Amino acid sequence: MLKDILIQQIKDKGPLDLYTYTSLCQTHPIYGYYSSKVSTQIIGDGGDFITAPEISPLFGEMIAIWVVSYWEQMGKPKVLHLVELGPGQGILMQDVVLALQKINLFSAECVVHFVEVNPSFQQLQKEKLQPLSPVFDHASLEFLEEIKEPTIIIANEFFDALPVRQYINHGNVWYEKGVGVDDKNELKMVHLPQEIEPDDMECQPDIEGILEKICDHIHRRKGAALLIDYGYWEGEGDSLQAVYKHQKVGILDYPGEADLSVHVNFKKMALQCKKGGVHYNFRTQRQFLMDLGIQLRLELICRNMDIAKATELRGGVQRLIDPLEMGQLFKVLEIWKN
Ligand code: SAH
Repeated sequence: MLKDILIQQIKDKGPLDLYTYTSLCQTHPIYGYYSSKVSTQIIGDGGDFITAPEISPLFGEMIAIWVVSYWEQMGKPKVLHLVELGPGQGILMQDVVLALQKINLFSAECVVHFVEVNPSFQQLQKEKLQPLSPVFDHASLEFLEEIKEPTIIIANEFFDALPVRQYINHGNVWYEKGVGVDDKNELKMVHLPQEIEPDDMECQPDIEGILEKICDHIHRRKGAALLIDYGYWEGEGDSLQAVYKHQKVGILDYPGEADLSVHVNFKKMALQCKKGGVHYNFRTQRQFLMDLGIQLRLELICRNMDIAKATELRGGVQRLIDPLEMGQLFKVLEIWKN
């Protein structure tokens, strides 16, 4: 178990900073949550959480409309690369590509690229997309450098899963949060010496490198990105949380077994994009889906459906846009270059 490995490592070499702890929990090659679990243990009723594409096919349809508008703006390239970061079961990309096939105006040949760490998800993604378009698997975004054509990059609930650092100020002294072992041989939070004052109380260092690649590509080759996650614009982060079988648990309770996630700092991402020479637009998920016409589309589809199915579909869309459910908490950052 990862917990035993971590306890031994801490006893041998000293406490881990939170970044190392969360990295190992998420992607330890053998016992990491995302690298080792099978898909059904992660997403869905039997897993730890459920995501927008699992809730409603209209989520992907709206994103397809968004893709078409950027494709037009890019001068209707013949080949369009569609990249998804952390695609989970592949439902979102499947819904997007199926919807694109139905839109007469759209005539590009799509090439799909998935960036995924979990072999069981990779399998599902291939099964869903291979009948629809060429599909390539990647471990990171390095491949973007090789792509000469315009690219659309999509990520839903990917950034929140990346490892995190946290800091704390006690008596005017800064500390980095870390993980040690107590005298009962259990994991405990500890404070590690921190020499300089941090810029943020909470940060996800890996985001910077990923955004740099995205901005660089969009800048050089045209394209756009759509980054959707739960997160905030203004605020102080202390948002790391753990969910195990749909229940909130302590972040040290089930290393590698529970889903760890943080609220993403969108303002920081947006400012980096601006520095990277690309434009951005920031909205709530509710606003994004309403602007793309999700309610009109819902009513049109429901007209020809039996009542039970229509009620289910309406319930799903409501969950996506309701401010008390996902509508407000989830945010959408759009990035593009004219
Ligand atoms: N986008 C999907 C799944 C979200 S869960 C949906 O909306 O349903 C997070 C996804 O990111 C999973 O597919 C997980 O395996 C993947 N992931 C997490 N950390 C990753 C990493 N460091 N590199 C690549 N993929 C990662």
